[in-house]
Amino acid sequence: MKRPPRILIVEDEPAIAELVAVNLRHNGFSPVWAEDGVLAEREIDTALPDAILLDWMLPGQSGLALARKWRSDRRTKDIPILMLTARGDEPDKIAGLDAGADDYITKPFSTQELLARIRAVLRRRAPEPSDETVSVGELKLDSATHRVSWRGRPLKLGPTEFKLLYHLMKHPERVHSRSQLLDNVWGDHVFIEERTVDVHVKRLRESLGAAGTMVETVRGAGYRLTAQAASGAEA
Ligand code: CA
Repeated sequence: MKRPPRILIVEDEPAIAELVAVNLRHNGFSPVWAEDGVLAEREIDTALPDAILLDWMLPGQSGLALARKWRSDRRTKDIPILMLTARGDEPDKIAGLDAGADDYITKPFSTQELLARIRAVLRRRAPEPSDETVSVGELKLDSATHRVSWRGRPLKLGPTEFKLLYHLMKHPERVHSRSQLLDNVWGDHVFIEERTVDVHVKRLRESLGAAGTMVETVRGAGYRLTAQAASGAEA
């Protein structure tokens, strides 16, 4: 993105809003603060934000009511909404997601976690182009035909393994944490355990056969697809 992403903070507690705004600004975002739903709507009328951080407990209209309203409005329905909630229990989180929130974060939260969640919702709204061929070493993937081959031989992959491989191939030699993979491949990590990633990586390696060694486990960090390992794998 050329201009800094505009993030609307809807939060009635000035201390929290201030802290969030300062951190966003330091990390390349352009924060705008509104204390309640009325002021938030005024900001939205002025310029559409790229994402909204929405507090659950607000004077006047609740965050939940606002999320529902913005989701049903044609102009605002595609803006990612991240709910800030002091409550930890599951029914409230589900209600927030049902109302159209893309994710939620429970207070107190760390700045790093908040920034990661914001980046994740922004990425999800900007899908990667879907028709292309990518190659890493002798591994080839065609996203249009959903075909994968290694050394010219076709390989059979399940849909999740295909998406996982596609993502790894688009960013080779880079370490991906489990939560990054959940964000980028599954698209919504709210109800998925990180262990799920391990299960699909195992299946992916099996499907790749001799090329399975290209998917490396980086201890304590995550996974990486590397062209180096393939040079040692004999057909
Ligand atoms: Ca509040």
